[in-house]
Amino acid sequence: MRSSPLYLEPRLEPPLRSLLAERDLLHTLTDALGSPLNLLLPEQIADNLARFRAVYRKHRLTGRIHFAHKANRSSALVRRLAATDAGLDVASLAELQHVLGAGCPPERIMATGPKNREYLWLAARTGATVHLDSRAELDALARLVRAHALPPVPVMPRLSGFRAPGTTVLTRPSRFGTDVAELDGLLDALERHRDAVETTGVAYHLDTTGVPEKAVALETCVTVLNECRRRGLNPRTIDIGGGFGVSYLADAAQWERYTSELTDAVLGRRPALTWQGHGYGLRAESGRLRGALGLYPAHRPVAAEAYLDELLSTPAPTLGRPLGTLLLENLYDLAVEPGRALADQCGATLARVLEVRQTPAGERLVRLEMNARDVGLEEHGVLMDPLPVPRPGAPATPDGSEGPDSPAGPVGVYLIGNLCLETDLITRRTVFLPRLPAPGDLLAFANTAGYLMDFSAGSALRHPVARKVAAYRQDGAWRWRLDEQYWPVDVTAGAEHRGDGHA
Ligand SMILES: *Cc1c(COP(=O)(O)O)cnc(C)c1O
Repeated sequence: MRSSPLYLEPRLEPPLRSLLAERDLLHTLTDALGSPLNLLLPEQIADNLARFRAVYRKHRLTGRIHFAHKANRSSALVRRLAATDAGLDVASLAELQHVLGAGCPPERIMATGPKNREYLWLAARTGATVHLDSRAELDALARLVRAHALPPVPVMPRLSGFRAPGTTVLTRPSRFGTDVAELDGLLDALERHRDAVETTGVAYHLDTTGVPEKAVALETCVTVLNECRRRGLNPRTIDIGGGFGVSYLADAAQWERYTSELTDAVLGRRPALTWQGHGYGLRAESGRLRGALGLYPAHRPVAAEAYLDELLSTPAPTLGRPLGTLLLENLYDLAVEPGRALADQCGATLARVLEVRQTPAGERLVRLEMNARDVGLEEHGVLMDPLPVPRPGAPATPDGSEGPDSPAGPVGVYLIGNLCLETDLITRRTVFLPRLPAPGDLLAFANTAGYLMDFSAGSALRHPVARKVAAYRQDGAWRWRLDEQYWPVDVTAGAEHRGDGHA
């Protein structure tokens, strides 16, 4: 495997870059707390929030920016956000309890997702806003409110099935929300339940990167709010959900070259780039390429708050004016629920190298003290190289020797996990590293805070779930606490609040 390395270097902003350069600290932490280990940067999520807020200001819009909690289980991130004006989008009873316990006031909480009775109850009891998934959920909520004589609960029906100005359904079908074709029935029900619920807005969340689809949905919501007002309901907010995306890679050219070489490999025009010729959705049929690349677009020229800016600057498909202007003219608030984008650059996952060996077929395997669920790169289709963190004091070449079996230069390897399963590959692609790692080194997977570090993590084989450490800078140095020990106050210097950022 001596073809020229196809690197996919992660995009690193200064805080994450600086933390990952702390070799001694990273090794000390992993020695003490085990591998894998998740790092979180709570200050970064506050910075990301501020960037979204700047786009609101640019378009002179008001409304809440919610973090979609499901992207990460961390307490530190949620507690840091509780100290800002951010909202929290929760999708389960446990997430709701978590954000309430972190100090987030109910008026800043949006309860989304499929709900059981207990989840509905706690949302209603505390006064969180309920994203209504269906008519049935509205009826259940209204019964609960009446049975327990609760104050009216703020609700936002979630809509789906938006249609473009023609007649074709433009948005992909969704399991969630009420189809706009059934809007009349829904609005009738909201009017009927006015004693129990207060309609404060409407919402959607489209799992797509396409701006045109979202433009249709947003414009439709403006007309729906106008219709609500005509009926004497008084909603003000349009919640456009999440899906703003992240650009994971530093270099667009690396991504383009990688995907085109992957295509060539699938067509047999170059040596394989993946375990057993896996094609990430692509396959060759009699010399022709079939299928579609099922990967996250890891390099994105426009992502996160820039994507919101682009959407707000896009002309409304029917009315023609920019969507941001349309919201402003109608004095509607804009709510957003970014998960991945607010978690951008907020974390990394460390894993220890246990073993490096070569198969009879010449493939180099690097076995890590983690498994594929501890870093969901494959599951989420994110292709991004880990950064080697050599053990401090280790010789420049892995075993101190030079020779064909221990190349000091770039090398292609497969990263395998600890699950005793043939399928437990951390990633099914050949990963090119600047040199062969040695047992005891760490590999740092950057930018894993959004879904990658703990969405799927379990405890198969009784392997412990990775611990989390919140890292922050204080007095010019990196400090850390266990995630559950982190609060956004300086616990070491009297009771004084740190305010909006650590000194
Ligand atoms: C998952 C989810 C989000 C967050 O999506 P991202 O792609 O992470 O921004 C927002 N809203 C709802 C309702 C969701 O289910």
